[in-house]
Amino acid sequence: MRNASIPGTHGRVRPLTLLGDPVLRTPGAEVTAFGPELAALVEDLFATMYAARGVGLAASQVGVGLRVFVYDCPDDEDVRHLGHVVNPRLVEADGVVVRGPEGCLSLPGLEAGTERFDHAVVEGRTVTGEPVTVHGTGFFARCLQHEYDHLDGKLYADRLRGLRHRRLMRQVARASWNRPEPGA
Ligand SMILES: [Zn+2]
Repeated sequence: MRNASIPGTHGRVRPLTLLGDPVLRTPGAEVTAFGPELAALVEDLFATMYAARGVGLAASQVGVGLRVFVYDCPDDEDVRHLGHVVNPRLVEADGVVVRGPEGCLSLPGLEAGTERFDHAVVEGRTVTGEPVTVHGTGFFARCLQHEYDHLDGKLYADRLRGLRHRRLMRQVARASWNRPEPGA
């Protein structure tokens, strides 16, 4: 059965960028052209996210330095949230701080208990330039904060301190996919 409305159906699975790739450390540029190239990027992000069994993916994770992310993510009540945001702004991040397991497709196979706010609101544009507001709680709020961080060149590892950070970095050093960061 064919359903053109399922995101990613027409997308191409692109290679994922991994920790050590400078694009992950470079803040993304604002999108200015809401045309077919942007639509193709969003489709590719969905296709790549689903192929990797992720719940969110930012453009830098396929090597594109633009402020775009997609998500298909449950919250703590198992409500599914599916969408994309172009040029997002994190307008609210508040509520209690919860430490929960968090991973990233750019650090495959690893996770660490990471502190995030329990509530987040993101405002931005759709692929056609319409305004959009996304509200998240629980695990979905975590996802919104994680993907938003990517657009500023930040990774969840940066939010870890002390033992948790050292333990994750040791796991990265041992990971089969790891290559040294340039200049390291
Ligand atoms: Zn990530």
